Amino acid sequence: MTPLSRRNSLKIGLAALTTAATAGTTTSASAQTHTTATKTPFKVEQVFIPIAGSQDMFPVRRIYCIGRNYAAHAREMGSDPTREPPFFFQKPTDAIQYVAPDKVVDHPYPSLTKNYHYEVELVAALKSGGKNISIETALDHVYGYALGLDMTRRDLQRALGDQKKPWEIGKSFDHSAPIGPIYRVQALKNFSKETISLSVNGVIKQQATLDQMIWSVAEQIAKLSEANELFAGDIIYSGTPENVGPVVKGDVILCKLDQLPDLSIKIV
Ligand code: MN
Repeated sequence: MTPLSRRNSLKIGLAALTTAATAGTTTSASAQTHTTATKTPFKVEQVFIPIAGSQDMFPVRRIYCIGRNYAAHAREMGSDPTREPPFFFQKPTDAIQYVAPDKVVDHPYPSLTKNYHYEVELVAALKSGGKNISIETALDHVYGYALGLDMTRRDLQRALGDQKKPWEIGKSFDHSAPIGPIYRVQALKNFSKETISLSVNGVIKQQATLDQMIWSVAEQIAKLSEANELFAGDIIYSGTPENVGPVVKGDVILCKLDQLPDLSIKIV
């Protein structure tokens, strides 16, 4: 192939890609959105979360997490809860570890850490999205809720933060997002002052009520949609109460939230 014909074929290839991306969807911001007709050299698994009371599975698009959303937890992490706007980070979709309600699921102690922390959190799952969503309409986008854990390599998160490096691997790693089934909003009363708690080996470690969140789920959705267009399949971990702490191999974590079934993992 001559350099010229090679350049032309590249152009054609790019044109074809552009056409495919345009034809593929008008709603997604992603040029990589696949249609059923897309041919790929290998398969990449879609991540799903079971939906309670349904044979359907919830397809996960992105995992957003909000940081420091309970005042006492913000203080224990060394920040002022009265001044800081909400901040967000993401975990990779395949960090999801599904935890069936009636089981104690083995959860592998991750590599690289000597200070592995739990954070129990309410998780909102979206059925639709948009940009610049208003607080008033934000909850219309919620498909359902689940109970989840934002597992954290605290030593790495802190050390990297101290060095002004991204604390990505402190938060975003394999199995770092255990979660129970998603309960559709129709099956729930509106969350207000429900108690969320976490115990380790039968001893209560974290306990709060959902009205202690600094930013409500509606406010989180509104704020997040200013930064990114949100889509169906996005889930949002809404932050953890105070008293985060470490676990070691053999420990059993039990999470509770009124209206949802318990979630339990054993660190192995
Ligand atoms: Mn968290």
